[in-house]
Amino acid sequence: VRAKGKVIFEAEGKPKRFSGTLQDVTDEYEVERRKDEFISVASHELKTPITSLNASLQILQKLVKTEQVTDKFKMFTAKAANNLSKLVHLLDDLLNVTKIQQGQLALSKNRFNLVELVKDSCEHISPGSDHEIAVTGVDELMVYADYRRVDQVIVNFLSNAIKYSPQSKNIDVILEQEGSNAKVTVCDYGIGINPEKLPHLFDRYYRVDALGHQFSGLGLGLYISADIIKRHDGNIGVDSQWGEGSQFWFTLPIDQ
Ligand code: ADP
Repeated sequence: VRAKGKVIFEAEGKPKRFSGTLQDVTDEYEVERRKDEFISVASHELKTPITSLNASLQILQKLVKTEQVTDKFKMFTAKAANNLSKLVHLLDDLLNVTKIQQGQLALSKNRFNLVELVKDSCEHISPGSDHEIAVTGVDELMVYADYRRVDQVIVNFLSNAIKYSPQSKNIDVILEQEGSNAKVTVCDYGIGINPEKLPHLFDRYYRVDALGHQFSGLGLGLYISADIIKRHDGNIGVDSQWGEGSQFWFTLPIDQ
């Protein structure tokens, strides 16, 4: 039951009366539960054929390098690999959400320099995009965290910054120490976000103007990122100026 209204108290502070509405939300929860269950089953069903396709394509890509093949063969192999990699990322997000829902997204922590991770991520993402990424700030931010999962958050921020700034090609990444926390901020100068929508950005499946969206996506990246950062005792957030750009940031405790 969802209650909306207020409780009237007696002078001694004891609750006397509730004034408002009670709504039966059993159906709503049931719909949510079925949606989660469907996503869990569908993503597990997709996993086997996609993994097998991936293995076959890797063999084809090796053949392209070592055998005499036509240019057409090369082109179609590259196209298939490119699209399959997008599919693998979408499937990864769906599987991650199911793991989060079931409390099974395991963390494997090590001590490392967050600055090096950020620089590596930027270098990996740069060749595939025509955006210029500039990294500034401190040289060392030691953290005790799950390297792969934190990388996932940074890659998510960077790919969103690229995706949602089709006109402006600059991205700034700022590395700072704020008290006992390491802070990473990714700034883009793209479409920005309507202030009314900001509170929902990290919700599951949330996409601004989902129906009229000209950009592809499932609305899961920020939800997964928020879960990863919260489970490291960090914070995640965003500032944005509509039509001018956004600054997505996260913090992680410094490991002394
Ligand atoms: P998606 O797969 O839709 O990009 P995310 O969870 O990563 O999912 O982001 C949720 C929504 O937040 C996006 O659909 C988009 O509307 C908005 N958003 C995320 N990053 C940015 C950004 N850098 N600039 C503008 N809007 C953004």
